[in-house]
Amino acid sequence: MNRTGYSSLFLDYVAQTSDAPMMLEVVKAQGCTMYDPQGKPYLDLIAGISVSNMGHSHPAIVEAVKQQAEQYMHVMVYGEFVESPQVKYAEWISKHFHGGQHAVFFVNSGSEAIETALKLAKRVTGRSSIISFENAYHGATHGALSIGGDEERKNAFRPLVPGNISLPFNNTEALSLIDENVAAVVIEPVQGEAGVIPADKTYLQTLRKICTEKGVLLVFDECQSGFGRTGAMFASQYYDVQPDITTLGKALGGGMPLGAVVAPKHLLDSFQSSPVLGHITTFGGHPVCCAAGLAAAQLISPELLQGVKQKEQLFLDLLKHESIVEVRTAGLLIAVEFKDATTNFEVIKQMIERGIITDWFLYADHSLRIAPPLIISEEEIKFACLSLIEILDKIKY
Ligand code: PMP
Repeated sequence: MNRTGYSSLFLDYVAQTSDAPMMLEVVKAQGCTMYDPQGKPYLDLIAGISVSNMGHSHPAIVEAVKQQAEQYMHVMVYGEFVESPQVKYAEWISKHFHGGQHAVFFVNSGSEAIETALKLAKRVTGRSSIISFENAYHGATHGALSIGGDEERKNAFRPLVPGNISLPFNNTEALSLIDENVAAVVIEPVQGEAGVIPADKTYLQTLRKICTEKGVLLVFDECQSGFGRTGAMFASQYYDVQPDITTLGKALGGGMPLGAVVAPKHLLDSFQSSPVLGHITTFGGHPVCCAAGLAAAQLISPELLQGVKQKEQLFLDLLKHESIVEVRTAGLLIAVEFKDATTNFEVIKQMIERGIITDWFLYADHSLRIAPPLIISEEEIKFACLSLIEILDKIKY
């Protein structure tokens, strides 16, 4: 990895999250390529963790940011002034959701969207218990961590928000624990940090039925699966299951920080009273972030979504090797599983040396994360996969 004068300052002054940061210094990023200070190109196979779906610094998104920044940036806390970037983006989101008109509550991140959804579910149902799933990841804040599916992570920070019940994922029998005390079931239609585990279609449809019967709100966390990542605009459309509440983040902002809760207006209206201002945020729905998000969302065409499925197939065709235990995919959200974490970390290291950025998953350190910008070309996919196969050929067990 090329280092510059900033590397040691980064370690000294920027709070660290791990003992082994990737330390790539980026001076420019365009399309699927990032450049370090020496001009070395890196093919980005992770898109800032499922964020930069349209590639880096797409001209239409940059233009939207520039125009909005010139017009106005922050003018008021969320929800008071009429800010056209928010209005236009909320309308776009509502039109691209199935199941009629929706309203959008903009926040700043995926975790904050989850916090908002949890409060909304409690407020609407008057119930307190939340069901979530083993190996789920919903964010790092207290509420989101409370419904996370990793005991080690949770134990380090207890006491957390009480009232959570964790069920095994894709296990229909366990759904019998959903009863009238439950405010919401929060689920990723495709578990991301677990290493790309898609829910079974019939399982999600059964879950929907049970939630309706018991008056429980069904929350889909589409922070990672939304905006074309799986080949559908939203995974709920692929599953043909209508959640009551959807949380969005990551690609929602087109490379800018933005989160959102999407729900029928009558549900979201409950934040208006008892107490008034039941959920508020200073920066949520920042006009520049909404302008960027809308510009990015408008680039998602039926052809682009079809291309995601074709590119998924190309990865599946090319990722064949005796060292690969399994390849799990949901569109361009891909996990390549090896027999152990040592192999995975060696692959990640050697890929970076060759100028290709991959990563592991939070709960699946045997699995290589591939989640490139959706605009990645066939040539780039071939280069990445052939490089990976060459590396696997050379790695000795
Ligand atoms: N939900 C899911 C499914 C996620 O993958 C993530 C982030 N990895 C989050 C929520 C939290 O988003 P953020 O990091 O923006 O708070």
